[in-house]
Amino acid sequence: MAQCRVTEIFYSLQGETRTVGLPTVFVRLTGCPLRCGYCDTEYAFYGGQKREISDIVAEVAAYQPRYITVSGGEPLAQSSCRQLLSELCDLGAEVSLETSGAMDISNIDPRVIRVMDLKTPGSGEEKRNRYQNLQLLTTHDQLKFVICHRQDYDWSVETIRTYQLQDRCELLFSPVHSELDPAELAEWIIADNLPVRMQVQLHKYLWQDAQGR
Ligand code: SF4
Repeated sequence: MAQCRVTEIFYSLQGETRTVGLPTVFVRLTGCPLRCGYCDTEYAFYGGQKREISDIVAEVAAYQPRYITVSGGEPLAQSSCRQLLSELCDLGAEVSLETSGAMDISNIDPRVIRVMDLKTPGSGEEKRNRYQNLQLLTTHDQLKFVICHRQDYDWSVETIRTYQLQDRCELLFSPVHSELDPAELAEWIIADNLPVRMQVQLHKYLWQDAQGR
């Protein structure tokens, strides 16, 4: 029986992405090989509980969700994550995967919306970006840049130009909470007429950094 190591399962509002504000069940898998400077889920690096996939799916199904997000940590660090994603899709909900961009995103159930990060220099983990992933993204997917400062913004704009990402998938720009003024990032995006969606982390405005929200 396939298992995944799970830190938490909870029902909340989606804080980011195209479905922001919609009630969503989150499955947070344990473990991450990266150490981003702004990480807000360090509690998911270790511990957790090994659970049968069927047991995880049953707990999620009890919420009768329309939206499900598998997050971490880095979910793809667990080889059984792909099976979990497929079985969650079978529930009939829209399933998304949040991934760091450091792991191979191929061979994931095509029903899954991949929300992939491209790590900016300010994260301290830029060297982990797996650029081969970019060609696998489609208009079904979303690519997120977490911006710490102006240098990260300039780097992101240049990366979008270099890889012609504006036609590949939806692009998300997110300021690091309490580090970059969202209004400042908004002004930069407007001034450059960028083809990106700016987002703030709704859950941080509602519940600060509370775990399980
Ligand atoms: S990839 Fe995500 S979970 Fe891992 S260290 Fe970076 S922000 Fe934290």
